[in-house]
Amino acid sequence: AAEEGFDLEEVEGDIAAAGHGPLPVLAVIGRPNVGKSTLVNRIIGRREAVVEDKPGVTRDRVTYEADWNGRRFKVVDTGGWEQDVLGIDASVAMQAEFAIEAADAVVFVVDAKVGATDTDEAVVKLLRRAGKPVVLVANKVDGPSGEADAAMLWSLGLGEPHPVSALHGRGTGDMLDAALEALPEAPAQTFGTALGGPRRIALIGRPNVGKSSLLNKVAGEERVVVNEQAGTTRDPVDEIIELAGKTWKFVDTAGIRRRVHLQEGADYYASLRTAAAVEKAEVAVVLIDASESISVQDQRIITMAVEAGRALVIAYNKWDTLDEERRFYLEREIERDLVQIPWAMRVNVSARTGRHMEKLVPAIETALAGWETRIPTGRLNAFLGEIVASHPHPIRGGKQPRILFGTQAGTKPPRFVLFASGFLEAGYRRFVERRLREEFSFDGTPIHISVRVRE
Ligand code: GDP
Ligand code: GDP
Repeated sequence: AAEEGFDLEEVEGDIAAAGHGPLPVLAVIGRPNVGKSTLVNRIIGRREAVVEDKPGVTRDRVTYEADWNGRRFKVVDTGGWEQDVLGIDASVAMQAEFAIEAADAVVFVVDAKVGATDTDEAVVKLLRRAGKPVVLVANKVDGPSGEADAAMLWSLGLGEPHPVSALHGRGTGDMLDAALEALPEAPAQTFGTALGGPRRIALIGRPNVGKSSLLNKVAGEERVVVNEQAGTTRDPVDEIIELAGKTWKFVDTAGIRRRVHLQEGADYYASLRTAAAVEKAEVAVVLIDASESISVQDQRIITMAVEAGRALVIAYNKWDTLDEERRFYLEREIERDLVQIPWAMRVNVSARTGRHMEKLVPAIETALAGWETRIPTGRLNAFLGEIVASHPHPIRGGKQPRILFGTQAGTKPPRFVLFASGFLEAGYRRFVERRLREEFSFDGTPIHISVRVRE
């Protein structure tokens, strides 16, 4: 039970801070070397996070959490890509297209010293078509003498250019004020059921694990033939599919259908595409090729979905290819590989034979149910009271930290704030999470627990 005299009003701010729902997404786009990564570093306030010494180093991580004036949001950095993979115009266009799709608002960075180039003009066209709010940044305005260069960018027709020096921080505060004004409170992809729309699934995984095969299987063979013949027309980005009597939206399937095969830089585009799909989805279905051992890339994709806070189903595909022996070893491999996320839903399927396809939807539904679970405060505190009584925190320095009170601050995924009388050790936190999961069955969803120490 809640501690006597616990002042709930006093901690409201803490609860609100931990309880944010899905965060709106700000994408930072622009040509190479205009200063996107430098700006993203300014925004997230962590220098080491993004900057790489080597130009053109590909990075897996493209989204970061940030806050400004107490508002939290996500930043998509598109700075870490090989500019010469496709030729500069195509690269910038492709990168911008991915990022704009995933974003709720866009920061378009132009190098004020260089001025607007043809490539910049091409991006403006994409931005117009997308219709998302845009904040135009005139970067590399390191001092007052650069202001005139910034003013030249009015010509792009995107409204006021914000003169900024990402390198020195000049003007970045004003620019962020403008960006946050443009950014909606919640992601535009309003979370499905509230509006009665279909639930959104991101089908992700590294190349050749069977994403398109699975999509074809669930969408039905005929449709696929039609799509392939359509070849020249642009594929729909999202695919609406009926499964088990319900309507589902598979987001961002164009990347799966289109089957862009690039040699260099492919990983980076794949990461960006995956991040975009995950942002738009409620549940991620990560496909893994069961005939091979899990790879670093598979792990990264799983991490991306977990860190984005999405419900998670891991589908081991190509199950038809396994012999007895491989199956035996695979089970052990899986236990080891997924040790960090024992809560993930798991299915073993074959997109080729259709094996266990009927288990996919129930797994997705379970994961979504966990993701949306809300535990009433009274029930949560009764449970926490039991834990404190039966498994108290070890005594440290003559004191015994206690959980005083807890509340669920948010869902999608579930977020909890625990108030404690002292620092709770990592081991104890993990124990509390494990017990929470056992008690309230958060299968298939990450959960967040933050602890606030009240003196
Ligand atoms: P990206 O390719 O768009 O991500 O660009 P980077 O952030 O990697 O920056 C490219 C180069 O421009 C780097 O050498 C940065 O130090 C430099 N740069 C970035 N912002 C500024 C700025 O505001 N002023 C000046 N003078 N240089 C900058
Ligand atoms: P994607 O790159 O993830 O979209 O993968 P694809 O769907 O293109 O599949 C890659 C290859 O794996 C193709 O040759 C498929 O026929 C094959 N494949 C996909 N699913 C299965 C499966 O369940 N069993 C077997 N044996 N092969 C599969």
